[in-house]
Amino acid sequence: MNSIDYIRPTTVDEALSLLSKYKGKARILAGGTDLIVQMRGGRYELDAVIDGKHIDELNQLTYSKQDGLVIGAAVPCHKIYGDSKVAEAYPGIMDSASLIGGIQIQGRASIGGNLMNAAPSADAIPALIAHNAVANIAGSKGVRSIRVEEICSGPGATSLAAGEMLVSISVPAPTKGFGARYIRFIPRNEMDIAVAGAGVSVQLKNGKIEAARVALASVAPTPLFVVEAGNSLIGKEPSDENIRIASEIAKQAAKPITDMRGTIEFRKHLCEVLTRRALHTAVERAREEN
Ligand SMILES: Cc1cc2nc3c(=O)[nH]c(=O)nc-3n(C[C@H](O)[C@H](O)[C@H](O)COP(=O)(O)OP(=O)(O)OC[C@H]3O[C@@H](n4cnc5c(N)ncnc54)[C@H](O)[C@@H]3O)c2cc1C
Repeated sequence: MNSIDYIRPTTVDEALSLLSKYKGKARILAGGTDLIVQMRGGRYELDAVIDGKHIDELNQLTYSKQDGLVIGAAVPCHKIYGDSKVAEAYPGIMDSASLIGGIQIQGRASIGGNLMNAAPSADAIPALIAHNAVANIAGSKGVRSIRVEEICSGPGATSLAAGEMLVSISVPAPTKGFGARYIRFIPRNEMDIAVAGAGVSVQLKNGKIEAARVALASVAPTPLFVVEAGNSLIGKEPSDENIRIASEIAKQAAKPITDMRGTIEFRKHLCEVLTRRALHTAVERAREEN
């Protein structure tokens, strides 16, 4: 590895100036659990690493029942699931934050880094999509907000323009009757990459599903938001049969590849099973909220 500059800006503006100065040869560091591994593996030839951990806005974690949740881009997973109010209000995000890597990884790894790394297998992204999250992106023209499902444009690629950076992720406040769940299949208990994953949410009203969202991991070049699976449940009771139909739609939407972790057929099968199980748990959680 060549010697590179390590810089610790304390404001977003300073970080943006550095991104501009290094003209694409610098990257933001959050926890470094992807970036450092990838730099060692030769994925990037960088002149600088810009540490985001010393910027206040990237380290904020605020929640209120009125305004919802704001997760700074560098907030580590353990702070998210370790906050009982956040964990209770955002169960799908809590599920994903508490299964990324192991305890040591969760002490550093951020949800923001998980999103910006844009791996098809990223565990936090389907949960963020299920929770209707929005990414707040800063660039030379100011801050813009973009839905999380529009961030990933390919394996490891995002829709951010050169010189832009993630500041935070905003998640709306859940209302009564909301439930969510993220689950994945891995061949062992932890420290593995999802063969497939499902992040879902439901909003119940008067015993029926008012809104539902389904997103999948590891079965397409990007995390996959399956709009039609959620929509198929709207106005219906959360019965076994209606959930089975939505899960079948998720299975049909998946476009996995065969690799060392699983075949196309196995992954598609998992999409149905995981979506079905996740929806059942999300409904149970929504009822507990009622
Ligand atoms: C042992 C091990 C186990 C793992 N297990 C899992 C797992 O179970 N599930 C899973 O999904 N992942 C897993 N990972 C991958 C990794 O831990 C996660 O993707 C993690 O969430 C990345 O967060 P980070 O803060 O470390 O990001 P970093 O490594 O700091 O950054 C990741 C990428 O995002 C960019 N970036 C970071 N912050 C910003 C910003 N503010 N603006 C723009 N770009 C930014 C970086 O430049 C880099 O390209 C594992 C990694 C290891 C080493």
